[in-house]
Amino acid sequence: MTGSTRNASPGFVLAVHGGAGTLRRGLMDEARAALYHAGLRSALSAGREILAAGGAALDAVTAAVVALEDDPLFNAGRGASFTSAGTIEMDAAVMDGRERRAGAVAGICGPKNPVLAARAVMEHSPHVLLAGDGAVAFCRAHGLAFAERDYFYTESRWQALQHILERRRRGLADTDPEEDDALRHGTVGAVARDGHGNLAAATSTGGIAGKMPGRIGDSPIIGAGTYADNESCAVSATGHGEFFMRFGAAFEMAARLRHCGQNLAEAARDVVDELARAGGSGGLVAVDRDGGLALPFNCAGMYRGYVTADGVIHTGIYDEPYRSS
Ligand code: ASP
Repeated sequence: MTGSTRNASPGFVLAVHGGAGTLRRGLMDEARAALYHAGLRSALSAGREILAAGGAALDAVTAAVVALEDDPLFNAGRGASFTSAGTIEMDAAVMDGRERRAGAVAGICGPKNPVLAARAVMEHSPHVLLAGDGAVAFCRAHGLAFAERDYFYTESRWQALQHILERRRRGLADTDPEEDDALRHGTVGAVARDGHGNLAAATSTGGIAGKMPGRIGDSPIIGAGTYADNESCAVSATGHGEFFMRFGAAFEMAARLRHCGQNLAEAARDVVDELARAGGSGGLVAVDRDGGLALPFNCAGMYRGYVTADGVIHTGIYDEPYRSS
């Protein structure tokens, strides 16, 4: 496992990720890296503004994920990946650690910010997860902002799909893990502990590129890709979703804190290592009720960053020192 862990701090903590499955180090030039760092920074700064003013963890993770959804570099909202049929089907979830309320959407295209759709499900419906046409109709009825399909389309994601489809025609695996695995992956997420000690998590994704239409990943599944509980921790995951679902990865983090006496660093390391042993690449960001922070991953890199009450923003891509500003 690579990544980093911080000890407890009394004030607020916010961490974000922009997906595991980064471009291979040799292919990432400085200009491109700078764009990713800038995208992560603006998400952290949107959340920091809320937390520094005494705002709620739930509002901070929502604002941070909205910023990442609006950035076409990341596979969520604008810039979401395509299914094998060339459609876009997005998943998102939010969870409020105060009473373990949660909302999620799956397989939707239309609402401009799927994380706001997930939050509307939590706040305005009696359900936790709405999918497909019903979810879209619910969002329309609740006045959420919509965008046309062109808004979500990016040429790079379209080309990634063509690359995958061509490899399938030639009988090859979707991507070469050594060369271009970044084409398949991506997700955005945020976790926070606010100054009042409340935790929240949010995750949003276009899912794995070239997925079957109708496929739903771990991001909107509470306990798999997203989880928050004031008594333990808040978690947002990224990676090969089928593994995170099978291993209940986000809840496994909380269970280890609640029942095994592990601290956040130990739980994060064990969960990510266990996934790696099973073949599930990816990582997660997590905060605990004392303000501890973990950002582990078991693959080449994970776009990620964090900010605490001192206001300094730290961002990283690979297993390397963070850039701070
Ligand atoms: N976890 C996401 C999914 O399986 C994809 C990713 O994070 O790369 O849909």
